[in-house]
Amino acid sequence: MSVPKEPNQPKPFINVHFRCCNIYARVHLNAQGNAFAGNCPRCCARLIIEAVEGGDPAKFWSAG
Ligand SMILES: [Zn+2]
Repeated sequence: MSVPKEPNQPKPFINVHFRCCNIYARVHLNAQGNAFAGNCPRCCARLIIEAVEGGDPAKFWSAG
């Protein structure tokens, strides 16, 4: 197992609009730090958004 790094640091996340259920939810950065991965909180549709260096994490994403 890898050593947990900076456990007190909140994981980066983005707000995503899930078109499938017309709701907004947070999607957190994955363990590799190369993509935001999550599921629709209502229907559990899988969502993966590749992280872009220098991208704006505050913007809203649309998916579904
Ligand atoms: Zn959904």
